[in-house]
Amino acid sequence: MSPGSAGYVSAWKDDEVLALGEVADKFVAAELTGKRDRWEAQRYVDRDVWRRAGEIGLLCCSIPEEYGGGGGTFAHDLIVFESQARAGDTAWGNGVHSGIVAHYILAYGTEEQRRRWLPRLASGELIAAVAMTEPGAGSDLKNIRTRAARDGSDYVIDGVKTFISNGHTADLIVVVAKTDAEAGAKGISLLVVEAEDCPGFVRGRILDKVGQHGADTSELFFEGVRVPAGNLLGGAEGQGFAQLMTQLAQERLVIAASAVAGLEAAVAVTLDYVKQRQAFGQSLFDFQNTKFTLAECATTAHVGRVFLDSCIQRHLDGGLDATTAAMAKWWLTEQQVTVVDRCLQLHGGYGYMREFLIARMYEDARVQKIYGGSNEIMKDLVARSLR
Ligand SMILES: Cc1cc2nc3c(=O)[nH]c(=O)nc-3n(C[C@H](O)[C@H](O)[C@H](O)COP(=O)(O)OP(=O)(O)OC[C@H]3O[C@@H](n4cnc5c(N)ncnc54)[C@H](O)[C@@H]3O)c2cc1C
Repeated sequence: MSPGSAGYVSAWKDDEVLALGEVADKFVAAELTGKRDRWEAQRYVDRDVWRRAGEIGLLCCSIPEEYGGGGGTFAHDLIVFESQARAGDTAWGNGVHSGIVAHYILAYGTEEQRRRWLPRLASGELIAAVAMTEPGAGSDLKNIRTRAARDGSDYVIDGVKTFISNGHTADLIVVVAKTDAEAGAKGISLLVVEAEDCPGFVRGRILDKVGQHGADTSELFFEGVRVPAGNLLGGAEGQGFAQLMTQLAQERLVIAASAVAGLEAAVAVTLDYVKQRQAFGQSLFDFQNTKFTLAECATTAHVGRVFLDSCIQRHLDGGLDATTAAMAKWWLTEQQVTVVDRCLQLHGGYGYMREFLIARMYEDARVQKIYGGSNEIMKDLVARSLR
């Protein structure tokens, strides 16, 4: 709940969703925040964490039961993502795994592809990633250079990807590649690379980032990687760009939801801090500047929550459009970064120490404005709807 918004409960959080949230909270505390230093030191989360999450039903919550998923709605996924974001964990790449890749496979996979991969994603046996970005092309996705050339019953993939979340640990990687270099967006296809025993597939560095230190954001190299033609997602070439665009509203909602949970948590931890810290014979909370700052931040959190909830409800009802999703992504991540910065200021020097959660929230939040489609690209999308 947003601090200061007593009585407001998100309508999508019914009893079943809230019960799953309690399971997620315990898991996050035990497996993620409780082991945070370890994940940050090695820069990835152990495979056991994924398997444990799968065992207790926290992966692929909205994938139908017939494919091994939880059989819930996207609300069930969101409560798990929120639980993680509220605790300030960014190491575990479940948003990409359950919120994005599993849905590519559900939406576009052939029946054979769904049955082959979804149950193992839901159990945590496989970890998923999506590889769009390249050293020379991020926002300008149509300009990617990775190629997938048909050769008999295979595709041969050549290219380099960078900034890939779950890149060091992923077993199943949806690779965005050009199957027809001359056809622009219509020449883009999604190919699923199974990383185990995959000649020509090489993982590069786990990248050294400003924040999100426990997350294995990596470079990936594909040098003559052969995948069977049956690994072309959807079974027909040239559909990749449209497939990516169709899923983007949901992906942006995942980021927006983590932004709101993150900024609510920042306000909550800061309230606790300023009430116990003393200066000039009173608590920090008693200074008018502190009260006004937190009143403004709490208001932002509540406005953000209500906007987010309306987006979630529209998505659950099947009606969230790309423009509103883009608004949610840019505006809510912008608010997150601003609020976290203001909350850090109220912690004084302790706010700059990584042993305080607010410091980690600060370094982890910044990238929210960059990935998932940069906020400038989001505004461009919104502006197009105003023509
Ligand atoms: C931690 C992290 C995790 C990531 N995870 C993944 C992942 O799992 N998979 C994946 O494929 N990618 C991932 N990315 C990549 C991310 O999506 C890209 O970094 C992002 O899309 C921006 O692309 P770029 O870095 O190439 O920047 P550029 O496209 O070079 O943009 C640089 C700047 O120019 C601006 N700009 C670009 N085009 C325009 C325009 N038309 N109008 C106005 N401004 C513009 C941008 O907004 C930005 O401010 C991740 C990145 C990070 C940092």
